[in-house]
Amino acid sequence: MKLSLVVPCYNEAENVAAFQDAVIGAFEGCGYEYEIIFVNDGSRDATLHNLKKLHAAQKCPVKVISFSRNFGKEAGLFAGLQHASGDYISLIDADLQQRPEIVRDMVDILDHEPDYDVVAAYQDRRGEGKVLSFFKKSFYKIINMLSSVTLQPDASDFRTFRRSVRDSIVELNEYHRFSKGIFAWVGYNTKFIPYTACERAAGTTKWSFWKLVNYAIEGIIGYSTAPLRLATFLGILTGIASVLYLLWVIIEKLVWGIAVPGYATTIVLTLLLGAVQLFCIGIIGEYVGRTFEQSKDRPIYIAKEILDYEK
Ligand code: UDP
Ligand code: MG
Repeated sequence: MKLSLVVPCYNEAENVAAFQDAVIGAFEGCGYEYEIIFVNDGSRDATLHNLKKLHAAQKCPVKVISFSRNFGKEAGLFAGLQHASGDYISLIDADLQQRPEIVRDMVDILDHEPDYDVVAAYQDRRGEGKVLSFFKKSFYKIINMLSSVTLQPDASDFRTFRRSVRDSIVELNEYHRFSKGIFAWVGYNTKFIPYTACERAAGTTKWSFWKLVNYAIEGIIGYSTAPLRLATFLGILTGIASVLYLLWVIIEKLVWGIAVPGYATTIVLTLLLGAVQLFCIGIIGEYVGRTFEQSKDRPIYIAKEILDYEK
């Protein structure tokens, strides 16, 4: 039995060596083989340099895939999965927020509970602000309402799964990758276990509030066409409203003889309709843009360098 740990790294120079040591500590004497696949996602610090040192030392089997630029964590996970050779595959961050010891528990579950194909960790307690947690909750509510797949709130991409699951995920070669959605889409029996995220060992998080907002939009657009229908509904709604208003204006004129005092109404309605139209065009644009990106059929990442270990 062999386990592959897929580790995306972006500016994690201070963390990679400590991460490897933590892995070695956690898996010493576990009785199965393991490999670490570091994906250097175009880091601008000494990450690659440090990864090469780890690769040269080979304290444990280490593979390094280095991208030609920053392609994003999703691309990193995809590359790592493509190169993973284990029977079990684990996705884990390089910053030691997710302890390798938990991976051992996940492997134990897969070993002893053959009904499960995936063991995914969710954060049981978040140290984040109320605003952010409100937005996250709303996001899950909206996406689960709109989309055909159901996303587990708070589930991270910290998970371990069987090779069959990896094969299915690698087959999905969409350019805009949203792993929460991909995991839900491929299905399989998933066991969710709680975990508490530790403090980042070093460096800073790469997620700003706006990045999260964009990520959320990515998820909604990528996994649902309901927003397109929203345009139709808005059209119908404003159509009905304008007919009603037209009738009202006629009645006003005929019954009370009020001349049309139109200025403010005209401005407001013009602006409102303009806004609705732009909004709808924007939604359509999101989908057209994605179709465009996908139709270019570009690779999800470009690997500049791949360092394998001797088998
Ligand atoms: N990461 C990456 N590419 C990016 C951003 C992040 O490979 O463009 C990696 C990062 O090095 C880390 C993991 O993804 O191993 C999670 O990132 P981070 O810790 O910033 O996210 P958080 O834990 O705050 O959600
Ligand atoms: Mg982190």
